[in-house]
Amino acid sequence: MNLREFLNYRTHCLTCGSELSTIFHSRKRQKHKSMNNRLLVQMDLKSLKKGQKQYKLGYSIDYDTNDFCIEFFDNEGSHYDSRGVPLFLLKRFKNLDKNQGKYHIIRDCHSCGKYWYSSNSFDLDYKSANLGDLSVHDEFGVMFENHNDGYRAYKLHTFYNKKESTLYSLNITKKHYETMCSKNAAPPFSNNLITTYAIPFKKSPNEIIEKLSTLITFS
Ligand SMILES: [Zn+2]
Repeated sequence: MNLREFLNYRTHCLTCGSELSTIFHSRKRQKHKSMNNRLLVQMDLKSLKKGQKQYKLGYSIDYDTNDFCIEFFDNEGSHYDSRGVPLFLLKRFKNLDKNQGKYHIIRDCHSCGKYWYSSNSFDLDYKSANLGDLSVHDEFGVMFENHNDGYRAYKLHTFYNKKESTLYSLNITKKHYETMCSKNAAPPFSNNLITTYAIPFKKSPNEIIEKLSTLITFS
């Protein structure tokens, strides 16, 4: 998948319908902008010493080719591209980069916190300057259906590479459901775990719930 396909895999939360947000690498504070057919992810490039001027680091990724480049910005809005980056900024970046580990891109619902999907992990290969092919590595969702006087909650986590899903279910009261929604909390799933073949999230929430309901009945 290219970046565009990955971001469009799902644009809205399966559970509450809100628009999904994109997280690049970690939940570190970051700003996303779309410009010249590229996604620009900006984050602070912290200085090691106090009192030094603050700069921002930008990961700029082409939506269609997955080509990337690193850019630097200062607080006045000046922009340093690859030809004119001062040496001290490169050093700061190198320090940060060596501690970053593997990268991945997450699409997450900030509204209810009950749905997200994540890409495969990848290294930033500065020689090819390309992220490589992206895929949906795993997907997670909490869904509800009416059950007797309350609800049945399902927590489904599918790992596409392992071709495996884990599924929890729990009956909750109406009151519990309402508190949970107002606090954006997840139900306290602790047991009732089922490990099964990979259940895709491709269908509508109702169709997924129907499938999960059958699995629970026969487990
Ligand atoms: Zn949501």
